[in-house]
Amino acid sequence: MEPFQYQILEGIPFFRLTAWEKKYPHLVAGFSARVKERDNYQQNYALHVGENPEQVLDNRQKLSDALGMSLSSWTCGEQVHGVSIQEAKASDRGKGNRSRTDAFADTDGLLTDQENLLLAAYYADCVPLYFYSPDLEVVAVAHAGWKGTVGKIGPNMIEELVRRGANREQIEVAIGPSIGSCCYEVDENVINPLREALSKDPSEEIAKPTDKSHWRLDLKLANRELFRLAEIPDRNILVTSYCTSCEDSFFYSHRRDHGDTGRMVALIGKRNKS
Ligand SMILES: [Zn+2]
Repeated sequence: MEPFQYQILEGIPFFRLTAWEKKYPHLVAGFSARVKERDNYQQNYALHVGENPEQVLDNRQKLSDALGMSLSSWTCGEQVHGVSIQEAKASDRGKGNRSRTDAFADTDGLLTDQENLLLAAYYADCVPLYFYSPDLEVVAVAHAGWKGTVGKIGPNMIEELVRRGANREQIEVAIGPSIGSCCYEVDENVINPLREALSKDPSEEIAKPTDKSHWRLDLKLANRELFRLAEIPDRNILVTSYCTSCEDSFFYSHRRDHGDTGRMVALIGKRNKS
């Protein structure tokens, strides 16, 4: 079953990660969508693209209100297609929420055990990875394009959680909307490091050859395979079926829109229990 369910929240299109929100009612988790009839930045949530930061802040504010969270809880990394992971402590709450200058520098993965702290990361085709460790009560998010994927930001986050005491058998992972193999052809510059990351040739399901030097790559399944290799049980790995490039009524796509496009936001956090 599709783990993400489309909803209109107070006029705002949004995919809730209902598979987790139902199981863990104190979690807030999901992925924003766009309104196709409007321009390519109307539903933009990232400050590093477009020319209208006020619109971005307005979008963030309205989505926060609709989710019953505050914009001051949004906490963001700079995102540089790297593999650095940082822990957001209470004093980090709000980093990057209104300006990119105070976001966690050089950071593509964030984790926290704090309540009322919403981890936010931005995407247009790259893979949003969501994590929840129920025993530690830690949530996490990572930004995995092909570089983050072959750099193993997913497995690295698992090891961060395990190092903090998480039971590997209980860690839950969700792989969100991103470009599908239907729309993503790559060459050996991507496949060679992927082969290294997997320590084997990728299966045809992950990377299907189209000729001698090109492959159709499924980044979602590449990340799933990396989680399997990190010994996350299959029952704890959810994968969306949405392709950001195909589903143009829902998503921006960097590749489809030739770079001239907004960003969706992946959010995960815990509500105050009190
Ligand atoms: Zn597609």
